[in-house]
Amino acid sequence: MKDRYDVIVVGAGPAGSMTAKTAANAGLDVLLIEKRQQIGDPVRCAEGVNKKYLKEYIQPDPAWISAEVKGSKIYAPDGAMVEMSEEIAGAEVGYVLERKVFDRALARDAALAGAEVMVKTRATGLLMEDGFVKGIKAEHMDEKYNIRADIVVGADGVESKVGRWAGIDTTLKPKDICTCAQYLMTDIEIDTDFCEFYVGHKIAPLGYIWVFPKGNNMANVGIGITGNMSGEVRAKDLLDDFVQKRYPGGKVIEFIVGGVPVCGTIERTVADGLMLVGDAARQSDPVTGGGIFNSIWAGDIAGKVAVNAIKHSDVSALFLQEYETKWRAGLGRDLDMSLVVKERFMRLTDDELNTLGHSLEGIDLGSVTLIGLLWALFKANKKLLWDLRSIFKGIKEIEMEASVEVNS
Ligand SMILES: Cc1cc2nc3c(=O)[nH]c(=O)nc-3n(C[C@H](O)[C@H](O)[C@H](O)COP(=O)(O)OP(=O)(O)OC[C@H]3O[C@@H](n4cnc5c(N)ncnc54)[C@H](O)[C@@H]3O)c2cc1C
Repeated sequence: MKDRYDVIVVGAGPAGSMTAKTAANAGLDVLLIEKRQQIGDPVRCAEGVNKKYLKEYIQPDPAWISAEVKGSKIYAPDGAMVEMSEEIAGAEVGYVLERKVFDRALARDAALAGAEVMVKTRATGLLMEDGFVKGIKAEHMDEKYNIRADIVVGADGVESKVGRWAGIDTTLKPKDICTCAQYLMTDIEIDTDFCEFYVGHKIAPLGYIWVFPKGNNMANVGIGITGNMSGEVRAKDLLDDFVQKRYPGGKVIEFIVGGVPVCGTIERTVADGLMLVGDAARQSDPVTGGGIFNSIWAGDIAGKVAVNAIKHSDVSALFLQEYETKWRAGLGRDLDMSLVVKERFMRLTDDELNTLGHSLEGIDLGSVTLIGLLWALFKANKKLLWDLRSIFKGIKEIEMEASVEVNS
């Protein structure tokens, strides 16, 4: 480890490794630090990600693909089921990863691109000069270090401190965080072609249960409920209820707990000499809690902007705004729309969810048009359609922009 780099990335999750890889590939001197001794372990994830999106950033490798699915099945409380093809099921459906291997592969790619990777190295604070971030304070094997850099990237996940140290408000209220519990189960009968989601107030208040196949009769069976509910009920107790009913003979071989930010966009993700990416920047989806792909995508942008900033010898927040502008243009509206959906959908009663489930049950959501979906929702619940008007307006705008691009 040297005492100076162009860029220091804190946290070797998908966001950090991708940022480090992109910056190192362009010739920057990059240090990627990870507080744990093993990258990717322990896993705190259901490991679902969209294939098509992911393939744009990393060559698929059977070593980190546990299963491939065709789409998702969403179950209403009374069992009504809506099937969605992979194309429209969102950023979490396609591959079920083996993240212990996947995260390590991303870090290896960063190392191969020229980044120095240090495990068992924890950032404990920032070096500040005249309001600019100038590096980090770190601990490695009981030794303390001050390491300087032109740019620090905070990719330190949901529990991020880097942003706060730089004066960025990343506070999460209980309602802004999804509390999750998950078993890796074996010896269970599962539909290996689909990721399953179960919604309803009784089984998962303000959240949902997921069953993601992992191959060999195994699956990640988990629950996420928003933090303001977890004072009243425990996620693990609700998960145990579900598992006992659904997989009475199943065996649990791993148990994890974790949190995901579901707050939507925060006010800013850059400061002088600093950028935040991934969960640290609260870029995960407020409805699904999915953040793997968003982290990789934003990490790539952060890496490119770091290269540009160093080239122009300008690491001010004003210059780094390029990162903020680009990620908000690509993802900001999706996150905002998702937040509206979360606030409305999560409050539907079980009866409303059943009505919705039945009205969508027969529709082929692989090929449904916006009008078809609107019509089905309209038939199901006129008030719901009114409440969701802002989202559909957003979808319509996106569709119109896309058709203009295609036609021009
Ligand atoms: C139970 C659960 C299920 C989920 N399921 C899915 C899913 O199916 N699909 C999906 O897309 N997303 C899912 N997510 C969300 C997904 O895991 C995250 O969005 C994603 O990991 C974010 O990547 P990241 O790189 O920003 O952060 P992380 O993957 O959290 O990586 C941050 C890294 O920073 C390190 N770090 C933290 N502080 C420091 C420090 N001070 N110094 C050095 N290193 C530090 C951490 O050890 C960690 O390795 C799930 C989350 C949970 C909790």
